[in-house]
Amino acid sequence: MVARLYDSRKKILVTGGAGFLGSHLVDRLLQQGHEVLCADNLFTGTKRNIEHLHSHARFEFIRHDITFPLFVEVDEIYNLACPASPIQYQHDPVQTTKTSVHGAINMLGLAKRLKCRILQASTSEVYGDPAVHPQTEDYWGHVNPIGPRSCYDEGKRCAETLFFDYHRQHALQIKVARIFNTYGPRMHMADGRVVSNFIVQALKGEPITLYGDGNQTRSFCYVDDLIDGLVKLMESPASFTGPVNLGNPTEFTMRELAQLVIAETKSSSKFITQPLPPDDPKQRKPDISLASKHLEWSPKIDLAKGLMPTVAFFRSIVG
Ligand code: NAD
Ligand code: UDP
Ligand code: UDP
Repeated sequence: MVARLYDSRKKILVTGGAGFLGSHLVDRLLQQGHEVLCADNLFTGTKRNIEHLHSHARFEFIRHDITFPLFVEVDEIYNLACPASPIQYQHDPVQTTKTSVHGAINMLGLAKRLKCRILQASTSEVYGDPAVHPQTEDYWGHVNPIGPRSCYDEGKRCAETLFFDYHRQHALQIKVARIFNTYGPRMHMADGRVVSNFIVQALKGEPITLYGDGNQTRSFCYVDDLIDGLVKLMESPASFTGPVNLGNPTEFTMRELAQLVIAETKSSSKFITQPLPPDDPKQRKPDISLASKHLEWSPKIDLAKGLMPTVAFFRSIVG
């Protein structure tokens, strides 16, 4: 551990800190008074997400790919680096697996040397197209090992394996969060995700693209709620490792989401249907009993409320 002058102020590494979730996490940790080191290769993240921190005295950015070793001195690590949307993680699938697997090995090696806590941003995708609903953490999942989503799903599953093996073998303090669909300002505009697609289409007056019959479900967590969960998880007792689901359990069909977006944007866009992508899960909803019990966490912001700042963000960037 790095000796610090002030007990409560930590130096915290956030990998993927220039991305959507990472940049909100960086903001929160700085607000709490910590020093933050952001390591990001800017593959899907942008400097724009962190430009407001340019001259912040406690913030530092390094352009770094976590598939390569990193030698820095910190007290805690949040490992978020990884492209998260299908378009982006399928662009270079081998690099996606490397980021999850080699990246985890390097960040775990770093945490092992520093004897510091490390949190992994895992995903509901480890459950694949789930045969159990809602998903609890003891469900082992239903994942295609050779499909187009496998580089992400299996990469994240292997990263979880590595976290638990470093925990058992090296007594490393680990935290594994299984994050479900999250949305909010700074989402990518062109990443093909449903929330960004629908909002941008509605703002441009273009047709809203419902894949399949639009009756598949997802549950959407507003970014501020998710960040609360990640920070609470990191601060939880050492005995609580997770994996723990973090997400909003209120389920919506894609058709219902489209209607909410239309209402919030006051758009005149109509719906069109398009084919369902391969391996598209039919439903997804977290069981958050574990987070509620161990972290006293549950989301506070419902979809209609969270869509307001999200729509405002997209309005500011859609020409
Ligand atoms: P994002 O694409 O906005 O952020 C990922 C960041 O990682 C980007 O800034 C990118 O440049 C960086 N990155 C990618 N590969 C890297 C590498 N090899 N080395 C260094 N940096 C690299 O995605 P996000 O939505 O903010 O997701 C953050 C994390 O949360 C990811 O690990 C993702 O799998 C996980 N997650 C997100 C969601 C969600 O709904 N957003 C859901 C489940 C899990
Ligand atoms: N590593 C790193 N930073 C460190 C320490 C280790 O990036 O401060 C990397 C290191 O390059 C190695 C990986 O983490 O490839 C795993 O380290 P570990 O000590 O677990 O394994 P070993 O070095 O014995 O293979
Ligand atoms: N989807 C849709 N129209 C779009 C984009 C996505 O109907 O323009 C659907 C997609 O088929 C999936 C759901 O919305 O069933 C969520 O897709 P997303 O890619 O956002 O997240 P994930 O599938 O990873 O949960």
